[in-house]
Amino acid sequence: MQPQLEDLKTRLHEINDLNGAAAVLNWDQSTYMPAGGAPARGRQMATLGRLAQEKFIDPAVGKLLDELEKAELNEDDAALVRITRLDYEQAVKIPPALLSAFTEHSAEAYQKWAAARPANDFAAVRESLEKTLDFSRQIADCFPGYDHIADPLIDFADYGMKAASVREVFSELRGELVPLVQQITAQEEADDSCLHLLYPEDKQLAFGWEIAKQYGYDTNRGRQDKTHHPFMTKFSLGDVRITTRVKENNLGEALFSTLHETGHALYEQGINMAYEGSPLANGTSAGVHESQSRLWENLVGRSRPFWEHYYPQLQATFPDQLGRVSLDTFHRAINKVQKSLIRTDADEVTYNLHVMIRFELELQMLEGTLAIKDLPDAWHAAYEADLGVRAPSDANGCLQDVHWYAGVIGGSFQGYTLGNILSGLFYEQALAAHPEITAEVGRGQFGTLHTWLKENIYTHGRKYTAPELIEKVTGGPLRIGPYVAYLKGKYGELYG
Ligand code: ZN
Repeated sequence: MQPQLEDLKTRLHEINDLNGAAAVLNWDQSTYMPAGGAPARGRQMATLGRLAQEKFIDPAVGKLLDELEKAELNEDDAALVRITRLDYEQAVKIPPALLSAFTEHSAEAYQKWAAARPANDFAAVRESLEKTLDFSRQIADCFPGYDHIADPLIDFADYGMKAASVREVFSELRGELVPLVQQITAQEEADDSCLHLLYPEDKQLAFGWEIAKQYGYDTNRGRQDKTHHPFMTKFSLGDVRITTRVKENNLGEALFSTLHETGHALYEQGINMAYEGSPLANGTSAGVHESQSRLWENLVGRSRPFWEHYYPQLQATFPDQLGRVSLDTFHRAINKVQKSLIRTDADEVTYNLHVMIRFELELQMLEGTLAIKDLPDAWHAAYEADLGVRAPSDANGCLQDVHWYAGVIGGSFQGYTLGNILSGLFYEQALAAHPEITAEVGRGQFGTLHTWLKENIYTHGRKYTAPELIEKVTGGPLRIGPYVAYLKGKYGELYG
């Protein structure tokens, strides 16, 4: 079977090279490219994407998989064949004509959204969003036999989860969060004015970068640049980049987005180098990926021990702004809980309610129980019911997130909350194995935690699916207990 295995690996490497090159173009587009480059850049990335897709759905790949599935392979090669089969079945079931029509539509839909959002003009995107919904249904229907039409779309991001299982977990979590939010917001609001003084950009960037390095981000295999919407991207296991954005009147913006993207990057940098160039060299699901960004951003980066160590340094960096602000005040400020309108600005406690609203609306649109024309009102109604706030405009309502305007409707939001739940679940395991982690965080030492995460999660890449990994690491299925206990413990202390 050696020749077949080599043949498969060579093909997958080439596909990976094409995707890596497209990622460089995309990174450049989001960081340094002049506006005039946009039309050609879109075309260039589409060409690379199409070539990669054509190479992957080649029937020869299917034939190699057929043969290799019957062979005796070592554990990693067997995993490679298994994961490639999952990807292959997803890829070949979508007709190329449908895929290219959708890709073309998505590019247009994104342009319309980019203009409609600042203009607060939902009518301008309505028709293209209706088309997106139609495409999303067609793509889901390429995978007949589903229980819920969203299931195949959820599979793309969080393989193994279903609309029903996500709904169940979410409703359980909701039952815990809603009273918690009520209790917290009934109290006096935290004063976060200290975060909104003037903080020079260069010092903000330097401070965040220093912590990224101390977390264990390998700067020989990465760098940070500025962008509009922060993201992590990977060209190879040797080049995993992060981006951030700075607001001089908001200290939290660059700092916590840097810690968040660093968490994503630590995951990718920690993958077994032997998987380089293969489909195994990626994070295993949207939810598990987000668990790592949220773990480093929130469970570590907004914790009390963390700031007991770093706050004096932050004060020394910004003596005029923070010199007379106590650690207590600062720690409450960066953990302020409030009922708000914008998901990306939301605190840890309310954040999941934002995600659940989107997930439920997605399902309703796909089910056909919510028409696109009624989306803005449904959005406002859900926010009033769950968070007690109503956006004055659609720009801060259903136009705020790019997801439905740049991809399918379905499967794009649940990963955020699954990630939060998993961050609590994984962190509990790490602390059980190494109770000294909390004290180490309080000394600005992250080696024990980082190593545990690397050995138990990062190194495996996609060798295990998310449900398999969760079972392996935590000895059971996804469950909300540890995450809820974390929130109640932390906010219980903060808000008495
Ligand atoms: Zn993230």
